[in-house]
Amino acid sequence: MTQTTYDVIVVGAANAGGFAAGAAAEKGAKVLVIDKKSSSDHLYRNTIASVDSAAQKRAGVHIDKRELVEFLSAFAQDNVDQKLLWTWVNHSGEAMDWLEEQVLKTNGDHLHATGDAYYEHLINKAFPSGNEVTRDEKSWDQGWGKYVIQKDRDLGVTFKYRTKLENLLTDAQNRVVGVRVKDTETNAISEFTATKGVILCTGGYGANEALMQKWAPTLLQKNTYTQSPRDDGSGQLAALAVGAARDDEPASIIFDRGAVPVGTNIDDYYVKDWKSHQFVLGSYPLLKVNLKGERFFNESAPYQFAMNSLRHQPGHLEVMVWNQKTMDNLQQFHTLGCSRLGWPGIFGADGEKKLVQQYLEKGYVKQADSIEELAHKMQLPADQLQKTVARYNDLCAAGEDQDFGKESYRMFPVDGGPYYAVTLGGILLATLDGLHVNERMQVLDRNADPIQGLYAAGNCAGGFFWGAYPDRVPGLTASHAVTFGRLAGQTVLA
Ligand SMILES: Cc1cc2nc3c(=O)[nH]c(=O)nc-3n(C[C@H](O)[C@H](O)[C@H](O)COP(=O)(O)OP(=O)(O)OC[C@H]3O[C@@H](n4cnc5c(N)ncnc54)[C@H](O)[C@@H]3O)c2cc1C
Repeated sequence: MTQTTYDVIVVGAANAGGFAAGAAAEKGAKVLVIDKKSSSDHLYRNTIASVDSAAQKRAGVHIDKRELVEFLSAFAQDNVDQKLLWTWVNHSGEAMDWLEEQVLKTNGDHLHATGDAYYEHLINKAFPSGNEVTRDEKSWDQGWGKYVIQKDRDLGVTFKYRTKLENLLTDAQNRVVGVRVKDTETNAISEFTATKGVILCTGGYGANEALMQKWAPTLLQKNTYTQSPRDDGSGQLAALAVGAARDDEPASIIFDRGAVPVGTNIDDYYVKDWKSHQFVLGSYPLLKVNLKGERFFNESAPYQFAMNSLRHQPGHLEVMVWNQKTMDNLQQFHTLGCSRLGWPGIFGADGEKKLVQQYLEKGYVKQADSIEELAHKMQLPADQLQKTVARYNDLCAAGEDQDFGKESYRMFPVDGGPYYAVTLGGILLATLDGLHVNERMQVLDRNADPIQGLYAAGNCAGGFFWGAYPDRVPGLTASHAVTFGRLAGQTVLA
């Protein structure tokens, strides 16, 4: 007979869910994990932040906790819960150590701590927070999600895929006592009971345009793609139906590298496609102009700032302009996280050249022998683009960006063809506003009282981010998910 009663039910089998299930099972709980899709291991991410992990200690990386919390709360103008920030800095190292000791080592992997976080200007203040899963110190092991799920199974956790949470079951006191689920292949409905609690780890809502319109309408003007096509917000809606409160302002993680066809109108271009449209070079601080051909901001800033600046520009898209010489001198545009040049970044200089070639073939990148010809191909006013490039080259020659203050070492002239350009918009990686939770990851109602039996972690939980993602703390979203997932799995039994 199928078992229908568990101690703990985790909804969502990716980052937060995998860590929540393992933590509860380690404490002896009978755990069921459900996920609406057929797999989830590929969603476990490359770069995971922490403070004081064993890997960071081995690498001599030290981060001042107070300084980091102050940075995160200032970045969000304190529209966050400082208790959650402190909870994260105090527990993230332990979550990484569990991953390395209990999961990675038996599979031949380890964590590599990235120690460099160079910045010259305050806008780029950064922390060396990243841990990367690797076997050979040359590349990521992107299959590590499989190891977490196997570890959970070894601890006795049951996984049911193609099983979607429809709604939460409550008793007469509004305590959450289980889940009502749908088999996504047969549409059969069933119920499972949780004696200790249900932990929601269902991610964001960026693939649900109706919820985007309601909770974060400006994100539809900042993004051309979403790369989380399963994020339908259903977990958050289930919690709201039993009285949960949620953040009332949006937060998100956006990459400034969504290459789109020339002439795209962002108002009717929001593509939900798992296939990557990431034109990685777009996150490098090369010359960028608005659709009038004018430079409009300091390109050397956190990824998401470009998309915020574009809200004040016509058409909300930017055009990046560069030449062949730039491609041969990319080292000075090396930044953090996955726009590092070389591992642990996505590409090296040769990879970027191949990418440009691919997008030339697709017709998104245009090539020309003069700026005037390039402007015509990009549908930009040629006179203005010529003026902008000439001014930029003068600033490069002067060695000082008197217009926007980009670091001098990144002022590389665009003089001499062949010239290239591409139109870019945002890629929404995830929404980050969510359900109100306390430091035990209990979901709160509008009085800030816990809804008994209900927990949340990862992108379906809020209070941690506001507005733009602080990408100068590389790996923070994945770490927020796994650290708080692990905490939820521990506290549900406490
Ligand atoms: C391409 C890409 C690369 C990224 N790289 C990084 C990185 O290197 N570092 C970093 O810090 N962050 C990265 N991120 C962001 C990071 O992936 C997320 O912030 C993090 O994965 C969130 O984890 P989560 O567990 O909350 O949600 P998810 O990983 O999105 O998992 C949610 C799970 O819940 C399931 N689910 C949803 N609704 C239901 C339901 N109703 N019933 C049952 N199951 C349900 C989904 O199928 C999914 O498996 C990246 C994001 C993308 C898109």
